[in-house]
Amino acid sequence: MAQTTLQLPPPLPLTTFTEDEILFRDNIRQFADEKVRPLVREMDEKGVFDKNLIHEFFQLGLMGIEIPEQYGGGGAKFFEAILAVEELSRVDASAGVIVDVQNTLVNNALLRWATADQKKRYLPRMAADMCGAYALSEAGSGSDAFALQTKAELKGNDYVLNGRKLWITNAKEAGLFVLFATVDPAAGYKGITAFLMEKEFPGFSVGKKEDKLGIRASSTCELVLEDCRVPKNNVLGEAGKHPVRQRSRHDQAVLFPSGGAGNFVGH
Ligand SMILES: Cc1cc2nc3c(=O)[nH]c(=O)nc-3n(C[C@H](O)[C@H](O)[C@H](O)COP(=O)(O)OP(=O)(O)OC[C@H]3O[C@@H](n4cnc5c(N)ncnc54)[C@H](O)[C@@H]3O)c2cc1C
Repeated sequence: MAQTTLQLPPPLPLTTFTEDEILFRDNIRQFADEKVRPLVREMDEKGVFDKNLIHEFFQLGLMGIEIPEQYGGGGAKFFEAILAVEELSRVDASAGVIVDVQNTLVNNALLRWATADQKKRYLPRMAADMCGAYALSEAGSGSDAFALQTKAELKGNDYVLNGRKLWITNAKEAGLFVLFATVDPAAGYKGITAFLMEKEFPGFSVGKKEDKLGIRASSTCELVLEDCRVPKNNVLGEAGKHPVRQRSRHDQAVLFPSGGAGNFVGH
């Protein structure tokens, strides 16, 4: 008897790109190959990311991918940010990390939780020339983010912060830090609050830079807060209200205030 073979159609891909997404991806691939690749070895050996390259990231719109056009950003989606990070990382992980932290942590947090006034003050700068960093971890608080010890005390119109942060990506380059501290250590995770910290705020300084084995051009530093004053209108979300921890799109630890969730990529 003749045997029949069942012909199944080939499986469909889980993700298909639109024409615009393919164009976006290919442009970044070309940029990464032509402009980033020639600098990778030297940046890695020196442990310093090329400033002009960061300037080019801003010019190309890679540092404000999701920021709405009204603030000078690209008005694109989170998916485009991931495409950009993927294409840059294909050539240089440090380039990927800088763009990743900027877009998926800092800008994303601002878009979700900033007040209208905070958006007006910070989003145009994040799209134009200001790097961001996300400061959650401490010496005794890595995976267990809720164990953080940095304290914030309200004094008049400012919060006064004391403590240290460790392993903070982009710290050397950043002008704005989304920085976590507790307003009430006795309240556990319920005291944790996110602050928009500018590098010029009094009492804030960037400490020792780690001399890493890999991804060396991406800065990873300590942050020192000594009676550091942050205006109370720079609280992101609400002070000490219901931080939520979830698994993120990157399947990493997530911590965000006021009943929301952002994502934290533990690079
Ligand atoms: C290059 C680099 C860049 C970084 N950038 C940033 C940054 O920009 N911002 C920031 O806030 N932090 C940053 N970090 C910190 C990073 O997020 C932490 O290193 C990470 O959260 C892990 O914390 P830890 O190193 O203290 O390890 P630990 O928390 O001590 O974990 C050590 C090991 O134990 C495992 N483990 C922990 N808890 C459990 C558990 N309950 N059950 C089972 N296993 C467990 C972990 O998976 C891990 O393998 C960076 C770190 C590095 C190395």
